[in-house]
Order: sequence, then structure tokens, then C-alpha cells
Amino acid sequence: MTAPTEPSRVPEGLWVKCPGCAQILYNKDLSANSSVCQQCAHHFRLDAAARLRSLLDDGVWKEHDAGLVSNDPLGFTDRKPYAVRLQEGMAATGLRDAVITATGAIERFAVEIVAMEYGFIGGSMGVVVGEKITRAVERSVARRHPLVIICCSGGARMMEGTLSLMQMAKISVALARLDRARVPYVAVLTDPTTGGVTASFAMLADVSMAEPGALIGFAGPRVIEQTIRQKLPEGFQRSEFLLEHGMLDMIVDRRELRSTIARMLSFLGAAPAAMGPPDSDRRPDAVPPSELTLD
Ligand SMILES: [Zn+2]
Repeated sequence: MTAPTEPSRVPEGLWVKCPGCAQILYNKDLSANSSVCQQCAHHFRLDAAARLRSLLDDGVWKEHDAGLVSNDPLGFTDRKPYAVRLQEGMAATGLRDAVITATGAIERFAVEIVAMEYGFIGGSMGVVVGEKITRAVERSVARRHPLVIICCSGGARMMEGTLSLMQMAKISVALARLDRARVPYVAVLTDPTTGGVTASFAMLADVSMAEPGALIGFAGPRVIEQTIRQKLPEGFQRSEFLLEHGMLDMIVDRRELRSTIARMLSFLGAAPAAMGPPDSDRRPDAVPPSELTLD
């Protein structure tokens, strides 16, 4: 997990200072504009639920595996116990781990969708995130629904050690099956997409999109500079630099993300379903919590 960038999520309160242009923005106007600054188009970070609301038809979805929780397999403690970090993440986000996986529709294309939650331990990927994403990929294969993953993560979760790194291989294997089944996969890389997430599923999509100005990389710039003993170029690891160097297919303004994903799904041969909104619920509290087994 690399160090986070400057806090870019919209803070609470009436007014917000934009880190892009230093303008003072009225919070309500900012929310109405998909949390994109009207002056300079700086993209503030969105939480996973807001992301799903902004992309899915009627703002509704059916959530899966909401009850999976990490059982702290290493009994890990750094500055504080991992168990405490998990509790804090749950209290801050209302989620049980750093991802929401769901079924919904984007302009009538039924999709399996994954939205990562930066507010939960930096969107880091441990066993729960890895398992939920793998199951989402498997649902895509079984139902032949295109897969859409909104990446937002500091990388593998160090508090779960090697078990976190294993998730990279597990998800990649599932994605290879999705590829063989010829079901489309669209990834959206948002600020930040780094570490083990970049080194696995974020870079394996049929179409890779990114939001403007997003930090996307594997190791942080300081580590690279110290390793290669060279100064890095301006804008290194930002979406625009990656597009120029062939690592991305397109950069999409958030306000056009929904229509662009739909256009790509159509281009990739997905057929819009005659489905209504999914039968359900944004936060199915009815799902009983279940411990995740590690075998
Ligand atoms: Zn601005």
C-alpha cells in the first residue's frame, strides 16, 4: 500500500476549497456537479455508494456478499491493532470492508459492478476485497453480464500480508476465465489506483478508462527515484501521462462516465436487457454476517 495523495474527497461543511484551483466552492453545487469543480474540473474523490448512485440506472443496485468480514488472520498490529482499524473503517463507511459488489444496469445494460471504497483503510485489498471481486467476476461469467470495476485503492493490504498478495493472482485467474467466456470487462481507474490493484485487475480490462488527473502507478514516485537514481518527469503517474504512453485507452470526465461506459459495452457487443431496476436494495442489512473462510 503506497501513501495516499492529498485528501481530495469532498469534506463535510458548507464550503470547500478546491485543491486544483484554490477556489472556494459551495458544497451543494459541487455535489450537484458529480463532485467535479466547475472552475477547473478537479475530480474530488467519491465514496463507493455515491459512485454506484452516479452510474446505475435509477441509482439502485442489488448488493452481494455484504456480510463478509475479515477475521484478522495474522492478529496484526502496527501503530494500532488491525482489528481496531477494521472497526474504524466500518464506523466511517458503514461497510464491512473496502468494496461494494453489486448487480445493476447502466443505460439498460445489465452489469456486475464493483466500486472500491477509499475511506475503508485506503481502499486496500485484503481477503474480503479479493474474495468479493472474484465472486463478482464469477457472477459475470455465469450470467454473461459485462463486468465494470471502479478502482480506487492504495494497493494490497499489508495487515493481511501474503494473503493480500494472493488476491492478485486469484482475481487475475478469474478474469482469464471471463476473457475466455468473451464477456466484456471495463475498468475505470480513479484517484488513486496503485500497488497490487494496478499490478492485477486494474490493468487487465478490455477497455481501460481513467478519470482526469488520477494517480495511477505501482510503487510511489519516491521509491522509484531512489531505485533508478533519476528525476521523474513532470506529471509522471497521472492519467494524462499514462494515456500518452499507451497504458490507458481513454480519459473520461466523470460527468460523461455513465454514457461512455454504455457506449463501450455496446461496442463490445453487450445487448441491453429488457430488465427493470434490480429487485432491490442499496444496503441489504438482512444479509447475515458470515466469517470468510480462508481455504
Ligand atoms: Zn477547482
